[in-house]
Amino acid sequence: MHEAPVTASDTVVMKFGGTSVADPDRIRGVARRLVEARERGVRVVGTVSAMGRSTDSLLELAGRVSPHPDPRELDMLLSTGERIACALVAMAVHDLGHEAVSFTGSQAGIITDAVYTRAKIREITPVRVLEALEREKIVLVAGFQGFSRDTMDVTTLGRGGTDLTAVALAATLGASCEIYSDVPGVFTADPRIVPDARRLPVVSYEEMLEMAASGARVLVLRAVELARANGVRIHARSTFSDEPGTWVQERGEGVELPPVRAVTHSRDDVLFTVRGLEGISSAAVLRAAAAEHVSVDTVVLGVGRDGAGLSFSVSAEDVPATRRAVAQAGEGLALLEVEESDDLGKVSVVGAGMRSRTGVAARMLQALAEERVEPRLISTSPIKISCLVDRAAVERCVRALHDAFELGDTNSQHAIYAPPLE
Ligand code: ADP
Ligand code: ASP
Ligand code: MG
Repeated sequence: MHEAPVTASDTVVMKFGGTSVADPDRIRGVARRLVEARERGVRVVGTVSAMGRSTDSLLELAGRVSPHPDPRELDMLLSTGERIACALVAMAVHDLGHEAVSFTGSQAGIITDAVYTRAKIREITPVRVLEALEREKIVLVAGFQGFSRDTMDVTTLGRGGTDLTAVALAATLGASCEIYSDVPGVFTADPRIVPDARRLPVVSYEEMLEMAASGARVLVLRAVELARANGVRIHARSTFSDEPGTWVQERGEGVELPPVRAVTHSRDDVLFTVRGLEGISSAAVLRAAAAEHVSVDTVVLGVGRDGAGLSFSVSAEDVPATRRAVAQAGEGLALLEVEESDDLGKVSVVGAGMRSRTGVAARMLQALAEERVEPRLISTSPIKISCLVDRAAVERCVRALHDAFELGDTNSQHAIYAPPLE
């Protein structure tokens, strides 16, 4: 297996996640990384997330003040986290003898639609970024945020949105894109759960999309979509080491791949089951969910004695919006029965090699059965099989599947990477 060559672009966008800027020492560490890149002669744009878990703290604070925080005000609040981190990194860069300037998303020209808390980037007019780069400054852009021209308001891009800021800036500036986090790349499973998970040197966009969609937090789904649409190669690396990381790009590794490349999981799936659908169609429920910007995962439609039943899963953060959607679609129908199961998680196996192989589902179910786990729902795509299982069994299932598909590091008797626990 070969590692992809470094791109020749003269500008690099370097993104650092919350753990990477969690305290003053780490902020100084990020500043050093940016300065090192600048001293290699490239133009540097850094984009950072809010410090540590501060976005969660702000959300919790909002919830303590108001049971249903106004989305516009939520964006005003949440966008401050990235702004703080960005200004602090710029200060630390100054102390290393380099010029730096920090911008909010709006100052950087990141224009979005007006959908608060999950805005989509419409265009970027990076006039001030280019001007500052021209003056040899290291530019810091607050991640996860933009500005709506329609409402003249600050918006945020959805959880994990700084990855998206990075890819969007790289696409606009024709820059290379490096995403730094607390793990040295994309692994065959979450290395916090599977000690012998291996780093994947190269992952195709196609596989990364499925991995991100099924819970591999290391890169956010929308960032991978944007990267693919714009041909931006993502280099996922560790903030804390110089290991080679993972290249996410169009082509794979040029070798025949095993059927399964990675096991992914999520722990926040909520399954809605709506029964008694006479009078309203299942499409109306899904349409109402889409109008609430809920992204619906596994969908199963069954017809029983008491009418049609629709089951679909959503992530926990979308539950309030899903409840609104179901209530709205079922208005006036006393018979509508809605059940929510929030004791579920999801385990998935992903691999482009699955297309041409048979028996993957059988092997997956066998491994789960050996753990005495009965999947509640199974869904498939050409390169992914997902099972909704008891939340308490998720970690056990991930490890069992990782073993069953022989993804571990067979050459090593010890964990190749054990990330620091928070
Ligand atoms: P950041 O805050 O830098 O954006 P995240 O917490 O969003 O970082 O993503 C990094 C985390 O993703 C890791 O700490 C790891 O636990 C988790 N993760 C889940 N699946 C994978 C995987 N397949 N490979 C690497 N990391 C993974
Ligand atoms: N701070 C935001 C979040 O926690 C955005 C990000 O980290 O990318 O979701
Ligand atoms: Mg992230």
